[in-house]
Amino acid sequence: MSNNKYKILVVEDEANIRSFVETILEANDYQVLTAATCTQGILMFHSHRPDLVMLDLGLPDKDGLEFIKNARQDSATPILILSARTQESDKVSALDLGANDYITKPFGTAELLARVRAALRTSRFGAAQSALPGAKFTLRDLEIDYDRRMITVGGEEVRLTQTEYNIVALLSEHAGKMMTYAAIIQAIWGAADPGSTKKLQVNMANIRKKLGSKPGESRYITNELGVGYRMYGENE
Ligand code: CA
Repeated sequence: MSNNKYKILVVEDEANIRSFVETILEANDYQVLTAATCTQGILMFHSHRPDLVMLDLGLPDKDGLEFIKNARQDSATPILILSARTQESDKVSALDLGANDYITKPFGTAELLARVRAALRTSRFGAAQSALPGAKFTLRDLEIDYDRRMITVGGEEVRLTQTEYNIVALLSEHAGKMMTYAAIIQAIWGAADPGSTKKLQVNMANIRKKLGSKPGESRYITNELGVGYRMYGENE
């Protein structure tokens, strides 16, 4: 029975946060492994092959970014950053190195569990799946029909430009993952130019309007200023 549990590695040097996270995860039927340093975390990652990693960036021996670089050499295991840092550049570096998402300390139980579920789902859905015949993405009343390149909200077709559709489809293929501006620009337009971020923001504003989101509201896509965009996971 316990073999079916998801295995989560928590790499965090602060004992109180580590045990808080461990207690919540174990109470929700996850198997938890813990490490207090980056080096120990890397060793445990390779010996235990967890399903998800929760990683603090400020570790005593090495920067948590070193963990991400190491893990991403041969693994797509989702990595959720436990961030105490408010600096956007650290989050962007972590995401661009391949972290899936981050959660800012202090966080509550419900938020933690929602992010864990979304990150675990990310590893099962993805670009490969959207390419399958008849593949559809559903998020509450929003549906994406990848074959027909059509998006509906509440059964009504939303008229998007090709670029707008490509952006929404891309975010949906990575639902639950925070995508940086650079990663989206690279995927949609290829090379970046000085106007790329502005161009992306203009497209996103149009998308949000067409999907029926009011200013300040994020029904399907959240925007982390200076970092990127994240589409909610299916059923999140
Ligand atoms: Ca720390």
